[in-house]
Amino acid sequence: GSGGDGGSEQTITAGTAPGFPPFEMKEGGELVGFDIDLLEAVVEQTDYSFEGWEEFEFDSLIPALTNNNIDVIAAGMTINEKRDDTIDFSDPYYSSDQAIVVRADGDFAPESLSDLADRPIGAQKGTTGEGVVQDELVGQEITESQYNAYDNYVLAIQDLENGNVDAVVIDVPVANTFAANRPVEVAFVYETGEKFGFGVRTDDDARQEALNAGLSTVREDGTYEELTQKWFGE
Ligand code: GLN
Repeated sequence: GSGGDGGSEQTITAGTAPGFPPFEMKEGGELVGFDIDLLEAVVEQTDYSFEGWEEFEFDSLIPALTNNNIDVIAAGMTINEKRDDTIDFSDPYYSSDQAIVVRADGDFAPESLSDLADRPIGAQKGTTGEGVVQDELVGQEITESQYNAYDNYVLAIQDLENGNVDAVVIDVPVANTFAANRPVEVAFVYETGEKFGFGVRTDDDARQEALNAGLSTVREDGTYEELTQKWFGE
């Protein structure tokens, strides 16, 4: 690295929220996933040294960043206006819409949000999937108490399998991963046109610029494509 100032300014501690496959999950006790590989490869291209990962519930990541517990969020986090008030983002590194996931037994096959009327619906706290439920369903198709908010999407999918909820609203690539491994399937996609970015503090232009430069390098040198192949087979 460029060094010079030594000290903690030239380091990056990253935060994530496992349980969001294939972006971040625990495998045999180890944190793995697309975000893990991508952020580490990006930091490798910068003058920052990588200090390691801290794990949080998804809705604790932004407070952890603003409190200086971590320097970067890598958690499939959608860049949106609401979050833009509190934190900044790197350039986008992945695109997603929301999937409506149901049990794979075929008993309930909704085709649109109105087909979810009067059903218990799950999502993870603080996510854009929860935003779709709150903005499009609660007070319209479903009552407030029919919305089940979970700390983690793994728990939401478990409750879907158990029959405690009839649908889960979750990012499409993660829905596809759950569908490949568990008795659930994507009923339909609700287009939101989301883009994921790495979160940084609003006053931290240095890390934001370093991450953007690193991202463009890993796109140009083939690393990005290698990692999408590895984790999404695309
Ligand atoms: N992309 C969604 C969001 O930003 C979900 C992210 C997640 O659950 N890790 O809200």
